[in-house]
Amino acid sequence: MSSNSGIQIPSRLPLLCTHDGVLLPGSTMRISVDTARNMQLVKSRLLKGTSLKSTIIGVIPNTRDPEHDSDELPSLHSIGTAGLAVQVVGSNWPKPHYTLLITGLCRFRVTQLLRERPFPVAEVEQLDKLEQYTEGGQADGELGELSQRFYQAAVQLVGMLDMSVPVVAKLRRLLDSLPRETLPDVLASMIRTSNKEKLQVLDAVDLEERFKKALPLLTRQIEGLKLLQKTRKLRPDDDKRVLAIRKGGVFPGRQFSLDEEVEDEDGDDTAMLEKKVKAAAMPEAALRVCLKELKRLKKMPQSMPEYALTHNYLEMMVELPWSKSTTDCLDIRAARVLLDNDHYAMEKLKRRVLEYLAVRQLKSTLKGPILCFVGPPGVGKTSVGRSIARTLGREFHRIALGGVCDQSDIRGHRRTYVGSMPGRIINGLKTVGVNNPVFLLDEVDKLGKSLQGDPAAALLEVLDPEQNHSFTDHYLNVPFDLSQVLFIATANTTATIPPALLDRMEVLQVPGYTQEEKVEIAHRHLIPHQLEQHGLTPQQLQIPQDTTKDIISKYTREAGVRSLERKIGAICRAVAVKVAEGHKVSRAESPTEQHNKEEDSGIASPPEMPIVIDHIALKDILGPPVFEMEVSERLTLPGVAIGLAWTPMGGEIMFVEASRMEGDGQLTLTGQLGDVMKESAHLAISWLRSNAKTYLLANGSADPLEGTDIHLHFPAGAVTKDGPSAGVTIVTCLASLLSGRLVRSDVAMTGEITLRGLVLPVGGIKDKVLAAHRANLKRVIIPKRNEKDLEEIPAHVRADLDFVFASTLDEVLNAAFDGGFPAASDCPIVNYTVKV
Ligand code: ADP
Repeated sequence: MSSNSGIQIPSRLPLLCTHDGVLLPGSTMRISVDTARNMQLVKSRLLKGTSLKSTIIGVIPNTRDPEHDSDELPSLHSIGTAGLAVQVVGSNWPKPHYTLLITGLCRFRVTQLLRERPFPVAEVEQLDKLEQYTEGGQADGELGELSQRFYQAAVQLVGMLDMSVPVVAKLRRLLDSLPRETLPDVLASMIRTSNKEKLQVLDAVDLEERFKKALPLLTRQIEGLKLLQKTRKLRPDDDKRVLAIRKGGVFPGRQFSLDEEVEDEDGDDTAMLEKKVKAAAMPEAALRVCLKELKRLKKMPQSMPEYALTHNYLEMMVELPWSKSTTDCLDIRAARVLLDNDHYAMEKLKRRVLEYLAVRQLKSTLKGPILCFVGPPGVGKTSVGRSIARTLGREFHRIALGGVCDQSDIRGHRRTYVGSMPGRIINGLKTVGVNNPVFLLDEVDKLGKSLQGDPAAALLEVLDPEQNHSFTDHYLNVPFDLSQVLFIATANTTATIPPALLDRMEVLQVPGYTQEEKVEIAHRHLIPHQLEQHGLTPQQLQIPQDTTKDIISKYTREAGVRSLERKIGAICRAVAVKVAEGHKVSRAESPTEQHNKEEDSGIASPPEMPIVIDHIALKDILGPPVFEMEVSERLTLPGVAIGLAWTPMGGEIMFVEASRMEGDGQLTLTGQLGDVMKESAHLAISWLRSNAKTYLLANGSADPLEGTDIHLHFPAGAVTKDGPSAGVTIVTCLASLLSGRLVRSDVAMTGEITLRGLVLPVGGIKDKVLAAHRANLKRVIIPKRNEKDLEEIPAHVRADLDFVFASTLDEVLNAAFDGGFPAASDCPIVNYTVKV
């Protein structure tokens, strides 16, 4: 790294307020943390964060309010020191507190306080340049002269101490190796100065002023020492503490920090690290690097930023599970039971997972495709991953890839700048502490791409059994063996998974659930789980099956069970409040009477009786139903038809609406349609025009569109839609509009059309059919060539539906209208044109 590369601190820093000490750049200080805000900061930034970046915090002295832990933020000084937390020690005695060892990096100014709670965070401006450790640079002019005088005074001070004491010798070496401009800060924090004086040094942003402020402090210390030497013979064992003259009493303020504590700490620390390095059972290459870094660390002054960086690197290296692993305890029969207990339905998936595990057991190797669960959110993909880890007795870790667009997220940052850190894979290994966990790569379909390199390429290397035994994270810069890690991926759709990645995976589709399955899942898993989470028992809260059905159909519309689980959670919360209040209202009357009497809520009951959530209580808690409008209510006018769409969230029913008005044959399309969908609309119109006679659509004139404009709309308007599969629905909707006849309200359809009126197969049949079933529709029209796809649909769903397999538009229209199309009775056509 070049010595001039300016290191940048983050522009936003969490602020740690100190009331008993001033941290200066280049010095290391112990800070006791016991106020609520500071404790929060330590907890959420230093203890949780695995990245180095998050360990840079702003240390800012507050000048008032020393003791109180009041709720108000004390008045903060406007200048502070960005510091790197080198060590955090927690203790509960005499009261909960942490002790931080912090190395000051550089000054900053608070430009704007962004928030105060749970701990203050501010926008900051970096005031000092933060450079790599250099051999003392020289300045000219007055500044040069000042710095020379300062240096000489410092040499004089050290000369008065006993050089045989290691700390003094080290200080002497430091004086020559430190850049001169850092001396005022470093020395001001060593010699005895009051907080006020230190604050003045901190405030001296200008270097010249800083020298001027610190020089008198230094000379004062020299004079004090001279005085002391005259009056008292220095005994050797005092030497260690000689700078911190206890009985001096001459100078106000606290003891400086360069006593043996820090020095020993330094020695201890590196010795400790060395021990840990040796105990970490690393491979040869890593060990070599660590020993080299350790050697450098020993030579480095602890006050330099690089010390902290190297220290953190070594800490990371010793914490990695180089050779720690768990023993697999796979018993296929037990695995089957466990999977069945954890998950209702999803038989096909569970079967495949068991096969996968069995093969692994027989071959005892991990080589082979990586399982990738593909399906809508909330269908249990993550949950199955977790169960796999449990059946194997392995640690589980989820790596969220959604939105990751920088390859250093996977592979880490090079250790050349402040804030560099390892990637998610290595971090994950550190978190689980063993080298053979189950890693769930969540949402591989949402990997991004950016200038910072393609994360998919990095991931490929991670997953490739030929390469991943020597995966090199940029931060570690030595290979780590990932070959024992079991990777599982999840995605909502395969369409956006990078092809090279998809090639490595075996895709297992996880379709959505039917209403019946959801009810079962809710009663077997979600409700017990939520009860437990909220500290409730079945004796306190009961949700009957009918209520669950209501929640599913009126409050959620999803393929998975995630919002269902959330709604159940909301019910538990409401009931928990009642139970906690010990609400004592007898519930002798019927629920309805009860509700009429009890104004505030209908879920009151004596504590010994379970609170039963009936439909009234449900409404009280969750509010009015969100999806109550019956499908049939929307089909009360000609010009509406129901299509079936596929989205990464699962299948959905989609209303297509059309209206006509006087005009000159224009077609208006709204609802954020893609090009393919627009073409389908044009195709549909052309086909209807050319077949107007056959279907009795033209009233008199040959063209049904003569003198009219048509507007087609696809709600919901804000969601982009594309694809050819709406073709048949558009035709049906227009046929209804032009004929003035209503489409059957219980039929949904999907299929691509051609100009000649043929119906072509489309994708996503399973999800679409499930959506139609969810919406309580009875008849589903699908392309003839999609008939084979019905095999994947659960038998009871198939039994509920009446399928029409269409190969021509004629068949579609005949199935979509009661009495066929045109009507068998040849009823007179109601012309729907609005004539003005
Ligand atoms: P995904 O990863 O597919 O988005 P999750 O695994 O997070 O979904 O599942 C959401 C919730 O639904 C979890 O609490 C999970 O336990 C539950 N869940 C989903 N499917 C089932 C099932 N078949 N049986 C039991 N619980 C399920």
